[in-house]
Amino acid sequence: MRFDIITIFPGFFSGFFEHGIVRRAQADGLVTVNVRDLRNFTHDRHRTVDDRPFGGGEGMVMKPEPLAEALEAVGIEIKAERKAGPSTPPADADSAQDDNPFSPTRVILLSAQGRPFTQAVARDLARLDRMVLICGRYEGVDERINELYCDLELSIGDYVLSGGELAAAVVLDATMRLVPGVLGNEASHEFESFGVADTAIITDIEGVPRSQYGSGGMLDYPHYTRPAEFRGLRTPEVLLNGDHQQIRRWRREQQLRKTLANRPDLLEDAQLTAEDKKVLEVLRRGAGASGKNASQG
Ligand code: SAM
Repeated sequence: MRFDIITIFPGFFSGFFEHGIVRRAQADGLVTVNVRDLRNFTHDRHRTVDDRPFGGGEGMVMKPEPLAEALEAVGIEIKAERKAGPSTPPADADSAQDDNPFSPTRVILLSAQGRPFTQAVARDLARLDRMVLICGRYEGVDERINELYCDLELSIGDYVLSGGELAAAVVLDATMRLVPGVLGNEASHEFESFGVADTAIITDIEGVPRSQYGSGGMLDYPHYTRPAEFRGLRTPEVLLNGDHQQIRRWRREQQLRKTLANRPDLLEDAQLTAEDKKVLEVLRRGAGASGKNASQG
């Protein structure tokens, strides 16, 4: 997958690409990232990328001409001239095929006014061949750039950042790790927060019992590692006894407990079994707050 980032602060990204999964994915040739300095597409002595807003008001607005030139330099035409197609690929899309109507490139404007960026959006984006990310600054980007070139406006949360660079890094990181091959173990993201793994799968493909639960759209459970006791706090015994069924049950209860406490909205669409619903009922009645094990009733 190819990422192009258009920014007035290209240096912002240099450290970011030198660590962990993002660095490895590039080294392994699974993704390429090109950062374009917007000021290279200006033609005045001061390399001006902003101007005063029409109609008055606070701050400055990013001028359309350098952005249009930067986009055209990375091969992005205006939307009307690109091949028409649905906005999300079918799950089995092979974007390399010519007869596939899905256009495998998306131009994305980072914006507080955008639609929320979620794991589900990241999963869709990871099926693309290419993503172009436009980082706004000042009061934002001249709206005609959005109208002419952008397929999607994405917001990373209900707050205002001083620039789109952090947001672009967030979108890139969350999407890149879902590109096939990047995480190594393809199933691992299904067992994280917001994962979509089927909660009913209790063994792996070789029949080995799983001690994990697909999160089915909920939050992850808490994790522990050695030492078993740290500053007076002991790892829950159930995790030390090697009984996969008990571990699964405990982890599921923890997922339900955390999701109920921190993100009850996720429960509305989560895949819940009859047992989950019983556990939730107990937690809701307050047994969770008093530290009782809800799955034991
Ligand atoms: N005037 C804009 C508004 O009220 O929505 C805020 C502009 S903000 C100071 C400058 C740039 O930061 C935006 O153009 C956008 O690229 C980026 N930005 C700010 N908040 C963001 C968010 N929550 N998600 C994604 N990008 C954001």
